[in-house]
Amino acid sequence: MVSTKPSSSCPLAARLAKQPCLILDGAMATSLKKLGISEVDTWNAPALLHQPHVRKSVKKVHMDFLESGVDILSANTYAADYGITEGGVDENFKRTQWVFDNLDLAKETIDEFVKSQKTLFGNEVQRPLLVMPIASFASGIIGRASTANRQQKDQDDYHRCEGYGFPASDIRSYFEGRLNDDVLRYAGKTGVAMLAFETIGDLLEVEIICTMLEEKAGVLEEAGLSAWIALTCGTADSVDTGDSIASCVEKMAKCPHVTCVGVNCTEPHLITPIVGTMKNVLKECGAEDKLIVVYPNSGETYISRELMAGETDHWVMTSACQDWNLVDAAMGWVDSGVNIVGGCCRIDAASIAGLVEGIRNHEIIARPEAKKLGRPSTKEKKGKKKTGPPTRSSKARR
Ligand SMILES: [Zn+2]
Repeated sequence: MVSTKPSSSCPLAARLAKQPCLILDGAMATSLKKLGISEVDTWNAPALLHQPHVRKSVKKVHMDFLESGVDILSANTYAADYGITEGGVDENFKRTQWVFDNLDLAKETIDEFVKSQKTLFGNEVQRPLLVMPIASFASGIIGRASTANRQQKDQDDYHRCEGYGFPASDIRSYFEGRLNDDVLRYAGKTGVAMLAFETIGDLLEVEIICTMLEEKAGVLEEAGLSAWIALTCGTADSVDTGDSIASCVEKMAKCPHVTCVGVNCTEPHLITPIVGTMKNVLKECGAEDKLIVVYPNSGETYISRELMAGETDHWVMTSACQDWNLVDAAMGWVDSGVNIVGGCCRIDAASIAGLVEGIRNHEIIARPEAKKLGRPSTKEKKGKKKTGPPTRSSKARR
């Protein structure tokens, strides 16, 4: 029988042997927009390659998250799709080169961060790990917002559409472009610790990813890579397309290359029951040692249409998430066995700094020996005013 457990060579599992949980970063697109990058350029691969100010901004966002004290940095590879040009999609854009460039940029930023910490504090810091996000077919091809809005709008008469209504061959072809041997080898060479499939919202898509990982076993081993798959869920029981979360987790539980299962870009009030389902399924499948990663969105939802009279922003806080607080929620998730926590849409470096501080203090209270193991945030070490947990008012400013 093939082991379904994370290999001891998994860098995340190895790091978790030394500390109770790992903190992941937050939203790149949200942070880029705050730096004045336009919506189009945020998702425009050629702009990131060819416009120096965009590249510089991506680097600044990476550095802001590193200085917040994260243990894991996400390279800016999520939306590495064909470039958007005025005439439409530039089919000739070399996506692979864009991935290489973003992996180099993330590694370069981590190198500079580690060096600066040594200069500032005189000793080595634990090097943050790097993961390589890969967007779902829905995000890459259809557009996540339209998928999520469709589910919300048609909740009552929702008709499940396998594979987002696309043939399996289309989904497979999408991932073939993202999992080519050159990309995997380059990721290994750049020090990527894990592939991160994100906003996955369909059972067929999970099956295709697991099958492809199995087919790529040789090059994955050569590159020292395994994967996490993070589901995006419309309800506490189902992913975006309506498939049950349990059926998706069962597939992942049986795939030896998926060392970590999780949930991202999902409203925070749904996370606790989703984690409960994930744990139950992993237990039933004898895969309890797989890691669990959780990075919800801020609870705001994106209205994918023209604003109407009286509306001022496409992002609107959902009523179920009005009183939500990232730090309090994350402490509960970690206590229930979640190994990695971070943020998705609308969660920026200031919120992640608050999360780092909250979780580290929580660890010290819950497990005094963690004081020796945890890494204080840079802001604490610099003696700057501590960044408090995000409050309702600070969230509203995002
Ligand atoms: Zn998101």
